[in-house]
Amino acid sequence: MVTSRELGKTRLPLWAAGFIVLICVEILGLSAWREWEARNADLRTAEIDVTNLAHSLIQHADDTFELADTILVGLVHRLEIDGTGPDAIAKLQAYLPTRKSSDRIRGIFIYDATGGWLATTEHLDFSKLNNSDRDYFRHHRDSPATGTLIGPPVKSKAGGQWIITVSRRINDSDGGFAGVVLLTIDVSYFVKFYERFDFGPNGSVSLLNNSGIMLARSRDESGAFVGRDLSNAPLFRSWKSRPPGAVYYFRSPIDGVDRLSYYQRSSRYPLMVLASKSQDDVLASWRRAATTRMTFVLGLVVLIALIGSYLVRQLVQRQRMAQALVAKEANFRLLAEQSSDMVTRIGLDNRVLYVSPSCARITGWSAEELLGTSALAGIHADDMERVRQAITALRNGEAEEARFVYRQHHRDKGEIWAEAALHVTLASDSGAIDGVVAVVRDMTEQKDLQDKLASLATTDGLTGLANRRAFDERLADEWARARRDGTQLSLLLIDVDHFKKFNDHYGHLAGDACLRALGRILSTYARRPADLAARYGGEEFAVLLPNTGPDGCAEVGEGIRQALLDLAMLHAQNPPSRLVTASVGGAAALPSQTTMDCSTLVAAADRALYAAKDSGRDRLVMSGQVVPWPAKSA
Ligand code: GH3
Ligand code: MG
Ligand code: MG
Repeated sequence: MVTSRELGKTRLPLWAAGFIVLICVEILGLSAWREWEARNADLRTAEIDVTNLAHSLIQHADDTFELADTILVGLVHRLEIDGTGPDAIAKLQAYLPTRKSSDRIRGIFIYDATGGWLATTEHLDFSKLNNSDRDYFRHHRDSPATGTLIGPPVKSKAGGQWIITVSRRINDSDGGFAGVVLLTIDVSYFVKFYERFDFGPNGSVSLLNNSGIMLARSRDESGAFVGRDLSNAPLFRSWKSRPPGAVYYFRSPIDGVDRLSYYQRSSRYPLMVLASKSQDDVLASWRRAATTRMTFVLGLVVLIALIGSYLVRQLVQRQRMAQALVAKEANFRLLAEQSSDMVTRIGLDNRVLYVSPSCARITGWSAEELLGTSALAGIHADDMERVRQAITALRNGEAEEARFVYRQHHRDKGEIWAEAALHVTLASDSGAIDGVVAVVRDMTEQKDLQDKLASLATTDGLTGLANRRAFDERLADEWARARRDGTQLSLLLIDVDHFKKFNDHYGHLAGDACLRALGRILSTYARRPADLAARYGGEEFAVLLPNTGPDGCAEVGEGIRQALLDLAMLHAQNPPSRLVTASVGGAAALPSQTTMDCSTLVAAADRALYAAKDSGRDRLVMSGQVVPWPAKSA
């Protein structure tokens, strides 16, 4: 079972892709979280701002109303002691402007028990004016309470502008209702005061009473919002359960803007201040910065994703290539290991990188023993140079394939013949030649057979001498050589006398033995390496004697004839000796002196042989006269 890992397939690309997605998600998540934190920090800062603002402004409102209250308390005290007689009022009328020293106070008014005006800081004729219809007047008249009443904003009868009334009841000596002291504060005073603070283009500050009535609102110079009843707004609906001051997020019922605010109730008066900023204003700079930062982050993430997906694709591709390579390698091994040939991978340093198991049969050594050793070890010294040259030519790119037969040392058998086919291998990445693959086959048997066939083709089976074909080839070669070298070439033709009769008389087997005996004689007389004894055909033999003249030739021929006779093999049908004899025809030539070919030499020897037959057999005749010698042919 081949596992996916062995095939080069791993989950690496999947892990890499997961890792890249994780990094992208991480970066996005971290950035989003950081932006959310930055947003919240901006909101926190704004909350602190509005908190501080609300605290300051409620203090201001308290101070303002306390000032008014102090004046009212002083006036009521004075009126209750001095009474409302004309003298007292006249004095009061003179005294009143001194109390209106602060710009917060619009006017001070004193009404009698019927609502008629007794005194005021306003410069107008008030003799006919009556304020008994005002809510604050009715409140004081009908209630014995002597506390200060801060009324809802009203339009001033004197000037027509929005004012906030602060009033107290005057009692007579019996505790009965004697009138009202009223102090008015311009709404615009608060509006102007609020202008000093920066709460953003869409922020606002509101001063409200506890019933949810708007007393003053920032930027409301026209008084459009003054007196508006906000008691139905959520803040007031849950008024009772709320702490006196808190951060409060809401959508304004007035202008629909989402605001973050801080409301603070006064601890002394039924008042509250609501300082708010628009969330859009607060977050505007964060939004701009966050958009820029997130654009960069997104760009970075896209870049990482692009590079990552490129790398993952590369990984997948490499894995596929590796898989293909592994499969190729597996196929190679399968083929190599099933093959009876020895398959060897050889590195550039001639070391064996791989060798198939059949090396045990071809070299006698196991694959384990051969790995890492020199691939040239065991090659016969005479073949080494040839093998080296072939490998060098392959490595230099001069040849794509090399084939040669060489001798290789076998551990047990000694020398064997082997045939090798070599190809270069290329590195998969660079394509450069990185080694050689050799397929080696044991050729010993074929080589032996070949040698045998070659010798069979040139040897005569009966006598072991060269056959006619080998003789013809050698004759042509020696003729050419003698012509080149200017040497002499001699030929003897030997024919057994009356051999037909010998066969007839003694049998064919005896005839064969006779021919073999003559063959042995011939091979002893063909002494020199270049000499060749051959069976020319039937009971006719030839001896080729290179570098030999007529005398030498005659000497060898005579020697052969005599040696056969000396064997003294009986041949009853061969008178007069009654022994086996042979006739010999000899011829010598100087091939460099003639344009004729070697057949003339054969023809001359043949003629000499027949001459020997004709003249009585068992003799040597030289053809001296027959072959054209230079002197004669010239
Ligand atoms: P001559 O003296 O004129 O040469 O007479 P001859 O009988 O030797 O001549 P011929 O050419 O008529 O006969 C040759 C004989 O040699 C015929 C054949 O039976 C015999 N012969 C040829 N080859 C062989 C062989 O290989 N073995 C045997 N036993 N006899 C052979
Ligand atoms: Mg014959
Ligand atoms: Mg014969």
